[in-house]
Amino acid sequence: MRLSRGSQLVVASHNAGKVREIKALLGPHGIEPISAGSLGLPEPEETGTTFAANAELKAHASAKASGHAALADDSGLCADALGGDPGIYSARWAGPDKDFRLAMNRIHDELRHKGLTTSAAKFVCALCVALPSGEFQTFEGESHGRLTFPPRGDHGFGYDPIFIADGMEQTFAEIDPARKHAMSHRARAFKKLLHSGIFTESL
Ligand code: IMP
Repeated sequence: MRLSRGSQLVVASHNAGKVREIKALLGPHGIEPISAGSLGLPEPEETGTTFAANAELKAHASAKASGHAALADDSGLCADALGGDPGIYSARWAGPDKDFRLAMNRIHDELRHKGLTTSAAKFVCALCVALPSGEFQTFEGESHGRLTFPPRGDHGFGYDPIFIADGMEQTFAEIDPARKHAMSHRARAFKKLLHSGIFTESL
C-alpha cells in the first residue's frame, strides 16, 4: 500500500485534539489531511474489543464513505491498578459531554477506593490506514508513565493533565506540544507507519 506526496488522506476522527496532532505529524510528509468532520462523515460505533479493532473499523468506514484513503486513530489511557481501565473506554468515561475532568476524577476516585493515590499507566495508540478497496495496515505505539493528581497543565487534550511519562516530572499537558509530538504513543505508532513505507515520494 502506497500514498504519494500530495495525496489526500481523510483523518477519520471527530476529536479535535487528535486531528490537530495527526495533522502536525502528517505535515512534513506532503500528505494533505482532510478531517472526517469537514466531509460530514458519520462516526461509526466503536464495537471492537481492542484499540486496533476500533481503529480499523473507523478507517474502513471513512475510506468507504469518502472514496479516499483514510487514517484512523484509536487510543486511550490504561491504568495498571485499574486492570487497564479506562482503556478502550477512555472517551466513553468522559460521558456524552466529553468532560475529561469527570473522567480524570473517576480514575482518581477508583484509585482512592483501592487505597491508592497513583498508578503506573500507559497511553496506547493504534493507527490504521485503509483504502476504499478494503486494503489496510495497522500500527501501535505506547507511552509508559504514571498518573498524578490533581490534573496539571493546559496543553494537549483528554487525559494529558494527569499523565507523566517515564523520566519526566511534568504532565503531557504541561510540556510544549512539540515535545509531546516527539515522544507520545501517537508519535511512536506514526513512526512505525512511516517506516512501513506507506508514504512514498511519488507513485
Ligand atoms: P477514541 O480513540 O476516539 O475512542 O478516544 C480515545 C480517548 O483517549 C480520547 O478521547 C482521549 O480522551 C484519550 N486519549 C487518547 N490519546 C490521548 C492523548 O494523547 N492524550 C490524552 N488523552 C488521550
